[in-house]
Amino acid sequence: MIIVMRHDATPAQIEAVVKTVQSHGLKTHLSGGEERTVIGVIGSNPFELKDTFLEAPGVAEVIPITKPYKLSNREFRPRDTHIRVGERDVGGETVWVVAGPCSVESEEMFMETARRLKTAGAHALRGGAFKPRTSPYTFQGLGRDGLSILAGARAETGLPIISEVLTPADIEAVVEVADVLQIGARNMQNFSLLSEVGRVRKPILLKRGMSATVEEWLLSAEYVLSQGNYEVILCERGIRTFETYTRNTLDLNAIPLIRELSHLPVIVDPSHGTGRRSLVASMALAGIAAGAHGVMVEVHPHPESALSDGAQSLTPEGFEALMEQLRPLAAALGKTA
Ligand code: PEP
Ligand code: MN
Repeated sequence: MIIVMRHDATPAQIEAVVKTVQSHGLKTHLSGGEERTVIGVIGSNPFELKDTFLEAPGVAEVIPITKPYKLSNREFRPRDTHIRVGERDVGGETVWVVAGPCSVESEEMFMETARRLKTAGAHALRGGAFKPRTSPYTFQGLGRDGLSILAGARAETGLPIISEVLTPADIEAVVEVADVLQIGARNMQNFSLLSEVGRVRKPILLKRGMSATVEEWLLSAEYVLSQGNYEVILCERGIRTFETYTRNTLDLNAIPLIRELSHLPVIVDPSHGTGRRSLVASMALAGIAAGAHGVMVEVHPHPESALSDGAQSLTPEGFEALMEQLRPLAAALGKTA
């Protein structure tokens, strides 16, 4: 349920409503807009108390939220959420471009990639230090050594860093270096991990699980938001279908759908979404045209020898070509890239 305060409600009236809600054992989440404050009320059957709140001074409306995702719901916060990452507002008028190799493999390869990406105009660097690999016998990431390499790239390029956390035990070390913590597709329903990152004060990039419905994905976001971390960026990275020529099927429907249902920013990852280098640029552009707030692509200086996801990695030249195509598309959409 949400309690919409009148535009002239005083801070004391807002506080009184919050206290009353809490006295009933319910949780509150405040969303302060320019013209009105909305109090999100979470708990069992809050709508039973509707009349109590309607009579409280300063209250304009009391509205039930029938969908199970409450805080990520656009009814709770009608305006798009903007999340500051480095110099960019994700969810705003810039097309946010994140690029980097799947895994941090060595200092030399990461720095070479980072320099090329910065020159080409990437806004943030990605790279996994802790990798969720399907087989336990493949490269699992450099761990803490990978994080030091990421820290060096951040210091040299000034670009923000996105890196994955696989378990709560990784969080402390990754938070030191990364500007955004990634929750991978395989962990989208790792609810204890989601609650843990909900207590972190850094944005979370939440990838869609490979078999997750949009509602399940938003409920996963809800685990983070309900712990007080309101900075969640959703990432559509393809779902499993019967098609075998591509690694996954990038669900473009999900982009405008998420924008309808939620105020959270949403980006596309056409690298995992297709699994094929030749398809990545087209699907990146398609994602932006569908309303995504950004793209995340894998780029490797020598994809043929990459330790993970080489087949879907763009070369630095391929990334430069993508940027050349993204800029006029962003401009046509009234944005910048
Ligand atoms: C990744 O970003 O390299 C990754 C492992 O992605 P996903 O969790 O979407 O498979
Ligand atoms: Mn990858």
